[in-house]
Amino acid sequence: MTNGKMKITAVIPAGGSGRRMQSGEAKQYLLLRGIPLLVHTLRAFQESPVIGDIVLVVPAADVDRIQSDIVDAFAMTKIRRVVAGGKERQDSVRNGIAVLSADCAIVIIHDAARPFVSPALIEKAANGAMQEGAVAVGVRVRDTVKQCEGEGRVIETLDREQIWMAQTPQAFRRATIVAAHQKAQEDNFYGTDDAVLVERMGIPVRMIEGIPDNIKITTTEDLAWAEYRLSTRKL
Ligand code: C5P
Repeated sequence: MTNGKMKITAVIPAGGSGRRMQSGEAKQYLLLRGIPLLVHTLRAFQESPVIGDIVLVVPAADVDRIQSDIVDAFAMTKIRRVVAGGKERQDSVRNGIAVLSADCAIVIIHDAARPFVSPALIEKAANGAMQEGAVAVGVRVRDTVKQCEGEGRVIETLDREQIWMAQTPQAFRRATIVAAHQKAQEDNFYGTDDAVLVERMGIPVRMIEGIPDNIKITTTEDLAWAEYRLSTRKL
């Protein structure tokens, strides 16, 4: 942590069951270059000088073994808590936010399934949250975007100059994200990222430019691509 009093905590949701992956194991534990996917992601946060500590959220059944198999085995010394996730990603993030330390000022939330996050991107998001209060990393679309009905009939062609694809990390002032998750729970509102919970409170969120490589590993094809990408990057 380099910024004096502002403690920055990373909340890493890794509580998914990997339903879309054709493997028995949840995708966050699948090996990428011999190391669990989750560890690639955690390393970026462990190495980032702006991150004070990490809250890792995993499936309830895995909480005990993660301490030895991940935290100890890979010397992830910044992991302060390992907590059980919930039914949806949003429930998992909320469980992570519930155990923030008293001195945490900024929360940076990042999907375990995005192993290409870098310390530079983490710092960019953290700085954004300190300055603006709420930021989401994303990329501008390159293709033309069409809004369609279920069957594919085009309703409208959207102005792609205004369209971004939101990824993680997403970073927020602590009070903002805590209030947004609380309100969403009260309203039984489920969103597909954390930023939307803040947006619906009327609080502005700024997009900051990320990297197209920062994909979420969802299918076995993504995993194969990630293997390839890591081999070209590190050799
Ligand atoms: O399922 P999806 O790929 O959208 O999940 C994004 C991230 O949220 C993953 O890192 C996954 O482990 C996590 N997740 C979670 N709890 C859930 C579902 C997903 O922490 N119930």
